[in-house]
Amino acid sequence: MARGLRLLPRAVGRLRPLLALGATRGFSAAAPEPLHVCVVGSGPAGFYTADRLLKGHEGAQVDIIDRLPTPFGLVRSGVAPDHPETKIVVNQFSRVAANGRCSFFGNVTLGRDISLSELRETYHAVVLAYGAESDRSLGIPGEDLKGIHSAREFVWWYNGHPDMCSLSPDLKNTESAVVLGQGNVALDVARILLRCKSELATTDITEYALDALRDSRIRKVYLVGRRGPVQAACTAKELREILGLKNVCVCIKDADLVTSPADEEEMRNSRIQRRVYELLSKAASAPKDINCNDQKELHFVFFRRPIRFIPSENGSTVGAVELEKTTLKGDEVTGRQLAVGTGEFEDLKCGLVLKSIGYRSLPVQGLAFDKNRGVVPNLRGKVLSSESETATVETGLYVVGWLKRGPTGIVATNLHCAEETVASILEDDTKGVLRAPSDLKKHGRAGLVEILEQKNVRFVPFSGWEKIDSKEKTAGQLRNKPREKITTWDGLQRAANE
Ligand code: NAP
Repeated sequence: MARGLRLLPRAVGRLRPLLALGATRGFSAAAPEPLHVCVVGSGPAGFYTADRLLKGHEGAQVDIIDRLPTPFGLVRSGVAPDHPETKIVVNQFSRVAANGRCSFFGNVTLGRDISLSELRETYHAVVLAYGAESDRSLGIPGEDLKGIHSAREFVWWYNGHPDMCSLSPDLKNTESAVVLGQGNVALDVARILLRCKSELATTDITEYALDALRDSRIRKVYLVGRRGPVQAACTAKELREILGLKNVCVCIKDADLVTSPADEEEMRNSRIQRRVYELLSKAASAPKDINCNDQKELHFVFFRRPIRFIPSENGSTVGAVELEKTTLKGDEVTGRQLAVGTGEFEDLKCGLVLKSIGYRSLPVQGLAFDKNRGVVPNLRGKVLSSESETATVETGLYVVGWLKRGPTGIVATNLHCAEETVASILEDDTKGVLRAPSDLKKHGRAGLVEILEQKNVRFVPFSGWEKIDSKEKTAGQLRNKPREKITTWDGLQRAANE
């Protein structure tokens, strides 16, 4: 990884106009001090926050930093390539970036290129929106065998995230893949493994992933859930899509569809759960087309929890997952039905495992972090000093998105989440908490540029992203795709600087 390239003297010169612009744009000497805000993370939560701040405060100057040279977070590296409609939101985010009071600084990593305390000294408000870039772990034996990846890694791989472009999952030496978990991410990765490659060829999936999927020998995908069909975490639209894939035979055991009174109660209380259950029941009883040569199989496996991964004969690659049968038991505290082991075990053979049991946020130095929930403790987006009841509010520090509420929800969920956090910022500003006359002057954008310049951090401005974007679209046209993504750090930095 070639990160943090040193600035050439010529590039330092190029920064100066920006520095000057940041210090003066739109504000005369007599104008009130702008509200300098830095948003860390340029995914949906970050961009919705910037949008609402710019609309809600005419003196707000918002800088968005991101560790990648490219903006848009999960919209670029998480949303499945065959869901182009979900990506249209980038047009709205690009309009936000084009606002004269907003700037993008890609290729800037919090905790490495700039510390949280430096940001807090530079801005009146810092909003952490860096999401969840790690994974929950199962903590069971054999988890580090070859052939076992988190779904996030696999998604980043086919979506061309520069940290995962060399993952190279082995799709050639096995006919069976196990996906652990039954949320929408599990459905995404299963669908990408099973979908006709001709349908994927016209998406923005990376060419190397398309080649690997074309050569894939995987014919059976097992989606394993520790609870039952009523508790499957996916949503109806996504489930309907995978159940309707061409040349895919869906297998569900009738016995797994038997419901208990507690299941019936859950379905009465949740339309989504009822709809998911109905779709699975319908798929179980649908006639199977067994005459097709390139038929693949999608197995929904319920009431099974992973116990350990068993190596194949070579000793280093996964050969099977040992599963324990489960039954459901009501939890008095949460009211949820939880999976409990029955003491009966079985092995499910496979050569590829994708763990899709949830993303996980990472802490940064100088920040309280709830390790159990993987979130920053907060009160309506205001960061708290700890998780305890006596915690105090960290003045000028806010959180939004998955880092605030945990890794759940669709792109649009972040809009409401951002509105709440922005309301907290505006409330604090109105109360005079953020721009107290006694405070040392905060320089916002000009201060950030100065720090980055001192540290020789070569940031990528939005115009750099636009060069990447244009190059990717041109390369995509040659292959009848919306874009061909640039997938390496070096390649992205080169394209941004051309
Ligand atoms: P998720 O919806 O929370 O699903 C996690 C799955 O992992 C659940 O089935 C859960 O089972 C299971 N699980 C968790 N811990 C486990 C363990 N220790 N052992 C076995 N199974 C375990 O998370 P996700 O699929 O990562 O999705 C994240 C969010 O992104 C969701 O809100 C999702 O809807 C959204 N998303 C949306 C789309 C879309 O709209 N197209 C696409 C992708 C993602 P339990 O229920 O038993 O805990």
